[in-house]
Amino acid sequence: MFQMPNLPYEHNVLEPVISKQTIDLHYGKHLQTYVDKLNDLVKGTDLEGKTIEEVVKEAPEGPVFNNAGQVLNHTLYFLQFKPKQENNRPTGKILQAIERDFGSFEEFQKSFSQASVDIFGSGWSWLSVDKDGKLIITKEANGSNPVRHGLKPLLGFDVWEHAYYLDYQNRRKDHIDQLWSIINWEAVESRM
Ligand code: MN
Repeated sequence: MFQMPNLPYEHNVLEPVISKQTIDLHYGKHLQTYVDKLNDLVKGTDLEGKTIEEVVKEAPEGPVFNNAGQVLNHTLYFLQFKPKQENNRPTGKILQAIERDFGSFEEFQKSFSQASVDIFGSGWSWLSVDKDGKLIITKEANGSNPVRHGLKPLLGFDVWEHAYYLDYQNRRKDHIDQLWSIINWEAVESRM
């Protein structure tokens, strides 16, 4: 059985960046539906004993891939947040890697925000590690995930409207600008 991630925070602690109502719906309803659908779809198949990463890597395009991708995406997404902090920045190993591959944290942030704004329709922007250990920013349409391309995902921004519409309506860029203040960089670094 594929499981819901246990949130290490209460649903209201990401306010005002992400409201309790959005977490209630996005985590409690959208993600729960992806988990339930995936479990239904793989029941009795040889995918049942695989890890979520294996299913996302191997499944052909279609309902299993779509739901598995969204289970993996949202598990990474909801576990990368903490309460809002002014001047929130990475430190240590993750900061060194960002400075090495993007010049500075500010340059990285600009490129990542732009990638997130530029996605047409529903999708995700990701920071990942490639096979040579280099950090890379990619965009994924719909429910795909960087593991599909042999990358290790570290940080993902969900730009499906369900992620921000209650709090920001059509202002995707405002939502993205605010997200930087709730990133748990220790959690992101632990995925390297
Ligand atoms: Mn979502």
